Amino acid sequence: MAEHESLEYGKADFVLLDNVSMEEFMGNLKLRFEKGRIYSYIGEVVVSVNPYRAMNIYGRDTIEQYKGRELYERPPHLFAIADAAYKAMKRRNKDTCIVISGESGAGKTEASKYIMQYIAAITNPNQRAEVERVKNMLLKSNCVLEAFGNAKTNRNDNSSRFGKYMDINFDFKGDPIGGHISNYLLEKSRVIFQQSGERSFHSFYQVNMLVFSLSFFLPLQSSINDGADFKAVADAMKVIGFTGDEVQTVYKILATILHLGNLTFGVDGDVTLIENPKLVSILRELLSTKEENVEKAMLYRTVATGRDVIEKQHTIQEASYGRDALAKAMYERLFCWIVGRINDIIEVRNYDARVHGKNTVIGVLDIYGFEIFQNNSFEQFCINYCNEKLQQLFIQLVLKQEQEEYQREGIPWKHIDYFNNQIIVDLVEQQHKGIFSVLDEACMNVGKVTDEVFLQGLNGKLAKHAHYTSRKLSPTDKSLEFDRDFRIRHYAGDVVYSVVGFIDKNKDTLFQDFKRLLYNSANPVLKAMWPEGKLSITEVTKRPLTAATLFKNSMISLVENLASKEPYYVRCIKPNDVKSPLLFEQERCRHQVEYLGLLENVRVRRAGFAYRQTYPRFLQRYKMISEFTWPNHDLPSDKDAVKRLMQGCGFDHDVAYGKTKVFIRTPRTLFSLEEQRAEMV
Ligand code: ADP
Ligand code: MG
Repeated sequence: MAEHESLEYGKADFVLLDNVSMEEFMGNLKLRFEKGRIYSYIGEVVVSVNPYRAMNIYGRDTIEQYKGRELYERPPHLFAIADAAYKAMKRRNKDTCIVISGESGAGKTEASKYIMQYIAAITNPNQRAEVERVKNMLLKSNCVLEAFGNAKTNRNDNSSRFGKYMDINFDFKGDPIGGHISNYLLEKSRVIFQQSGERSFHSFYQVNMLVFSLSFFLPLQSSINDGADFKAVADAMKVIGFTGDEVQTVYKILATILHLGNLTFGVDGDVTLIENPKLVSILRELLSTKEENVEKAMLYRTVATGRDVIEKQHTIQEASYGRDALAKAMYERLFCWIVGRINDIIEVRNYDARVHGKNTVIGVLDIYGFEIFQNNSFEQFCINYCNEKLQQLFIQLVLKQEQEEYQREGIPWKHIDYFNNQIIVDLVEQQHKGIFSVLDEACMNVGKVTDEVFLQGLNGKLAKHAHYTSRKLSPTDKSLEFDRDFRIRHYAGDVVYSVVGFIDKNKDTLFQDFKRLLYNSANPVLKAMWPEGKLSITEVTKRPLTAATLFKNSMISLVENLASKEPYYVRCIKPNDVKSPLLFEQERCRHQVEYLGLLENVRVRRAGFAYRQTYPRFLQRYKMISEFTWPNHDLPSDKDAVKRLMQGCGFDHDVAYGKTKVFIRTPRTLFSLEEQRAEMV
């Protein structure tokens, strides 16, 4: 049990460290990792270190050990937190969420799968068919999303290249009755470019293995069994309910994108042309359209000038740009469409809250962690902004609210210093002055729209900001290039971003002609993916929202959603860069502990109290262990009764009495209470 676990494995809860220092924290983390104890707690936060080996701790027997137990009754485990979230949801009718964070390869996605498996395993004791169907869908949807949204990177063979938030809806019995998936910022640039040693999305390799000849340029690696995965994905799509036509269209889109990769342009005099016209007829076939339509969309764009509509021929560069944009957009749209189809199918139906009571939710967030690469661009900027937002939420919920609650309850509180990253969140998202605003403004410029203009805009607006700098503002800093770099001091560390490509990626232009091409396809599935292609050139008036604005809006609503729920946290740590089960790289881990704010988390937890409960609820649970309170007390208030109970048990020294709640300092006390209770009932 958590408290009784042998000390040979270190402290199961970092709150119990003798001294809260980085040294002790790291010592304990390392010891536990080396002893095969990959999970630890900070209060109710799970700290996980990727073991990089199969652990025999996820089976049916382990599930049984955690089912219905309190957090502190068993050794730290994901199952304990999953159960805590489930109990809060079921007993107290609360929406809860589990936020999993950590850098790429730290084990977030695996953790989210174990959590889902646990929830699936402990629900639906009556084997209701409809609930089984929903559970099966939820689990199967993972397999499809991973095929289309994951890729091999140098950090992780199965790296999620999108952020995922999944709600699971439960009925009044606590059984899953549906769900909803939100996806965030798919790394679509991977469709046309991969770093050396990396791959494009799994789906391309899978479809390439079985349907088409191996004639495409795809960097191939061997560790992944694409053939077997293809069958699994095809099966999952079928089970989920994709129709035959839909699945065929999915394959056709993948094939289209692969063929687009081979399409090249040349010139003859002043005419731009397609160098490999045979491809055009293949594309025509795949897209169910006319050959001349494909060719025209590739080589021309329609522009409205005043009242006239003219066809303007692309240069080679423009045509290549258009081709790549098309490939990326088709893939992104396909991915969103797949998510949408899954949502259609798993959406809660026919649940009548008036009859059955509220339907409650557990959300699971598996989203990219902080990224610092050799070259950091728009994508890293968005991802790191996302992590700033989540850190802010964490601060507000765990640190700030904790302090505020003590104040409210009139309990003496030693102020804890922690870095509040709101200032960085503002730096990015503030209206008018924030980096996203400056970027959008630069994109709207009628005249010169270049990445350098954007950088100048930043330098103008942010010259005095403590977390922003550039070569112009720090002329002696040789690590920054003129006209190219800016540096943000993130809560997790400094990151240098290159502005190259920001404007382009933010505008995210796809020529209207492509949208019309796809909308006019005779394939109804494809057509339905591109409704905006319905508009003719003169009808298109609105400028589409920029990528930054879309991302910002989606982050704000994500955080609002999470903030409305009771949060549980899993903090994942990656022990080394070589996927080794033996290596605990001290420096690497220390850095992660630092930027995840774990030490601050322990400090607040310790300065504070491990457990709190309102007096009436506390009595409800423990009154049987004291003669003063069982079966009822005759003291003036519940607060007095709890005091009496605690004094009687000899726990008084470990407890503070707030206005409405009792606060218990160490988990050990709570544990004893639980034991005594168990003896009585
Ligand atoms: P992330 O989603 O954080 O990028 P993943 O969850 O994909 O990372 O984990 C990366 C790899 O690490 C997995 O493919 C697996 O090999 C290994 N791994 C992660 N968590 C575990 C675990 N609990 N047990 C065994 N191996 C794990
Ligand atoms: Mg992942």
